[in-house]
Amino acid sequence: MKKDEYQAVIIGGGSGGYAAASKLADYGISTVVIDASEELGGLCILRGCMPSKALIESANLMRKMRDSNEFGIHVSDLKVSMDEVQDRKQRLIDGFKKYRVDQLQSGKFDLIRGKAVFTGDREVEVQSQEENRKIRFKYAIIATGSLPVIPKIDGLEDVDFWLSRDALQARELPEHLIIVGGGAIGCEMAHCFEGLGSKVTIMQRTGCLVSDLGGETSDVIRQVSQQRGIEVLCSTSPKSVRKSGDKVVVEYESEDGVSEVSGSHLLVATGREPATEGLGLGLAGVEKQGKRIEVNQLCQTSSSHIFAIGDVGNKNPVVHKAVIQGEEVARQIAIELGKLDGEFKSSLEVENELFGVFTHPECARAGMSNSEISKTEIETESARYDFADHGKAEILGETIGFVKLICEKRTGQILAAEAVGPEAINLIHEIQIAIHAKMSVMEFSKIPHYHPTLAEIWTYPAESLSGSLESGS
Ligand SMILES: Cc1cc2nc3c(=O)[nH]c(=O)nc-3n(C[C@H](O)[C@H](O)[C@H](O)COP(=O)(O)OP(=O)(O)OC[C@H]3O[C@@H](n4cnc5c(N)ncnc54)[C@H](O)[C@@H]3O)c2cc1C
Repeated sequence: MKKDEYQAVIIGGGSGGYAAASKLADYGISTVVIDASEELGGLCILRGCMPSKALIESANLMRKMRDSNEFGIHVSDLKVSMDEVQDRKQRLIDGFKKYRVDQLQSGKFDLIRGKAVFTGDREVEVQSQEENRKIRFKYAIIATGSLPVIPKIDGLEDVDFWLSRDALQARELPEHLIIVGGGAIGCEMAHCFEGLGSKVTIMQRTGCLVSDLGGETSDVIRQVSQQRGIEVLCSTSPKSVRKSGDKVVVEYESEDGVSEVSGSHLLVATGREPATEGLGLGLAGVEKQGKRIEVNQLCQTSSSHIFAIGDVGNKNPVVHKAVIQGEEVARQIAIELGKLDGEFKSSLEVENELFGVFTHPECARAGMSNSEISKTEIETESARYDFADHGKAEILGETIGFVKLICEKRTGQILAAEAVGPEAINLIHEIQIAIHAKMSVMEFSKIPHYHPTLAEIWTYPAESLSGSLESGS
């Protein structure tokens, strides 16, 4: 007989939902995941992190081969087969997807395919082609993810345009790709298609690319993009879009007035918004701000037994947050149900923020942002070191960019770091650990680093900061 009551109902079986379900089941809590998608797997695996990084790897290899003369390696007849690039990506994605689907169907918890809609604060209705079915719950976790934002631009609906999911499936290499949106996804796609051989124009509303990162990092990404021939149009707003023969023409406004750019393909990457429409949140007493579900530090909504995790509630929608939130909410529910001892404390604090963009070079930041620091009374010191002066980076031929450490002046405690350069996203994790361990630059400077490695670049700003703090200068 079909069950109609669970201790925990999870709406959405992506990264966040799966993490929560798996932990809840570990604690012996009766759990069901409801997922509406035709294809199970979630955004990260199917249309987000993993396919984009697989394509970017092909683009990075192409770029490396284009620059191989410097290493004394001469390659002729270099060409890209988009079919083979896509086939490699798809083999990888099929493997990741199979693993996740097996996990979702392992029987550790129940899985129901269908759209969940709240019909009360303790009940959801699952709507599918076969039936509509009511499920009662003690706790619910909303993990419905996000959807692409499609901006209102005159004529957009009359032309063929790509969203990121379409760009990730492209089996033709655009001759000239125009990207509207210079955030993380827009910039990653720009570097990906430029690397593979397309001409790229990127249009950004604000004055800098990847504005979630520091201004110095944005400057580097803009300079590198332009050096590679990517046309960067910052402080522009698209007015209209039209077809002209086999081209797409974007009319845009900037401080210089109204201009046009025409290309073979158009990618709209203007961000994503929480997927909350049609969820019946009002009947569950769950409040939103705009489309985003309002949550506290513990991911509790205005109905305290209903939680929201992942993109649906996060201002910085990234996978590790969705996963950690899922696991933490599960722990919290287990404590409330008496399955676990202890008091709940979230580890997701602003000090632990982590963000990266897989451009070439990569860029990343960890810890508090400049604006968060400026809201406090903390006095800071910072030091920067350029990859151009770093032996290992020179050996790799990857000398663009820098790392920067920010610490509290009084104690030397490391508060934040920025990196733009080779392997910046891997490199930032060392500082993430230091931040998490509340380490000072003096303590960090004593940790041996193997030579010659990219990682040892952190020792230079750390030594410079500990020297100046110890000498009181
Ligand atoms: C191109 C791209 C690249 C990215 N790259 C990175 C990266 O490099 N690193 C990183 O950290 N993040 C990256 N992200 C973001 C990352 O993919 C997301 O933050 C993450 O996947 C969100 O997970 P989630 O569990 O919140 O939602 P999802 O994985 O989207 O899962 C939501 C699930 O809920 C289901 N659902 C929705 N509504 C209902 C309903 N009413 N009933 C039942 N089911 C429902 C959906 O079908 C879906 O399966 C990228 C995103 C994109 C688009």
